[in-house]
Amino acid sequence: MPKLLLQECWKLKLSWDTDLPSSMAKKFVKWKEQLKFLNDISIPRCLDKNEGDRNITLHVFCDASEKAYAACIFLRSEGDDSTDCQLIQARARVAPLKSISVSRLELLACNIGARLCQSVKESLGMEEVSTRYWSDSSNALYWIKKNENWATFVFNRVKEIRHLSDPDDWNHISGQLNPADLPSRGCSFQNLAKSNWWLGPPWLKNPPEYWPKSNIFPDEEIVNAEKRKTVVSVTNTEKEDKIYDIFSSYPKLLMVVSWIYRFIDNCRVKKNFRKLGSITVEERNRTEISLIKIAQRESFTGPQDKRLQKLQILEDENGLFRIKTRLSLKSDLKNFKFPIVLPSEHSIVEKLVRWKHCSLGHAGVQIVMTNLREEFWILKYRKTVRKVVKNCVICKRFDARPIETPTAPLPVDRLRAASVFEIIGVDFAGPLYLKGNQKSWIVIYTCAVFRAIHLELTTSLSTESFLQSFRRYVARRGRPSVVYSDNGTNLVGANNLIKRINWETVAKYSTVNKIDWKFIPPSAPWWGGFWERLIGMVKRIIRKVLGQTSQL
Ligand SMILES: [Zn+2]
Repeated sequence: MPKLLLQECWKLKLSWDTDLPSSMAKKFVKWKEQLKFLNDISIPRCLDKNEGDRNITLHVFCDASEKAYAACIFLRSEGDDSTDCQLIQARARVAPLKSISVSRLELLACNIGARLCQSVKESLGMEEVSTRYWSDSSNALYWIKKNENWATFVFNRVKEIRHLSDPDDWNHISGQLNPADLPSRGCSFQNLAKSNWWLGPPWLKNPPEYWPKSNIFPDEEIVNAEKRKTVVSVTNTEKEDKIYDIFSSYPKLLMVVSWIYRFIDNCRVKKNFRKLGSITVEERNRTEISLIKIAQRESFTGPQDKRLQKLQILEDENGLFRIKTRLSLKSDLKNFKFPIVLPSEHSIVEKLVRWKHCSLGHAGVQIVMTNLREEFWILKYRKTVRKVVKNCVICKRFDARPIETPTAPLPVDRLRAASVFEIIGVDFAGPLYLKGNQKSWIVIYTCAVFRAIHLELTTSLSTESFLQSFRRYVARRGRPSVVYSDNGTNLVGANNLIKRINWETVAKYSTVNKIDWKFIPPSAPWWGGFWERLIGMVKRIIRKVLGQTSQL
């Protein structure tokens, strides 16, 4: 009762010197008045006044209500003529303020029952005495008897109970017959005095055959709710977000961290001394040192780190690990003589390398390495740099090769079994310089099927002289049925000789002579591919043979 009152006070969050609310005060006074009835209660100290060979058993009763849970232990001494029961010890606890289910409270009661029994046995030297445990909660008994993978709360209690007692010793008893019902609910002293509670429940005096027997009927829902959830949980092994993981660019990271340092510094000094304006180089350098330090400290255990053993490491005044090189006597920058050691795999290092790569105009591995070497010594140098360069998106885009298209089949005109020079392509080359500064051009006729070549020389680029050369060609090689040529719209510029010819006249002439003159489509110079290739060869040879006179 007083425990319950005290807990009620806690719930009201009364401080120690506030007056109790009247209702609480009334309860307390009532309890105090009842204290006098305690005088009427006497509990014999002697546990077993009988002598002789007697069968002694211990009985532990556990019960819980919403407000409290309790356990009590009785000693049963059975002789030939009489059976006596006597309370040994009882313990009651108020329920935790955090409300938990009655089933769990019952389990807690069983737990303190088992503990209490253990301590009683130890102090009375009764370790060998057989013990029975009683509870009126089917759920708690079910948990104790079934050794399953219960959820944490139940699991821990059941584990302890099973350790302190044999699960087979646990029995069910109905609530009315359970003597632990009284302490768990609390009762007035008058009732207590009347009940002779400390003599144990009346039925316990009967022989064991007459003891109440009941099966446990656990509430499946409550019982199984305490099963450990065997959901496969994906463990999130992600590291907590580090500041250097938030920013992808090294200069940006430097700036942001510098601002953070600036803020911290400014917080520490009085308003008048605060730094304003943009970040200075000094501040930036300080940030860089601390970032590098982070990278070093997170990757190396210290100068004795396994990976650093082969290198001569020294720690500078900023706490950075540097390498002693053989250049230490050279008058040069400190960073060059004693480069800073960096781990190969660290987000900060990766950002540093990527930034170097980008600021050097997406330079290759060797250049980036040389540049970084002026200040840093990165473990697995080439591999680290190559990895960054390889993953650079911009470099990837430019290094990409065009998709390869399957070669298209040749057009019919180049395949059909025609006579030599039946299907031809026409083009110009030139000019060639003749004696007396006279110019001349070469008209190249190419056979589309057999790749044969016929060259005609013409001294002017007029339509007439072209047609004359064409007629000479026909006279020599026969009349072609199809002629392919560029009509001069493909290439713009002085070099485009074909442009000067009036192709309409040519087309007219060819129609009269039953020649199918085909112009390759504008902006599609590859149509003329089959003769351009041959022209290239011819030009090369002519250049070699004629030397200075040619301007091909
Ligand atoms: Zn790049």
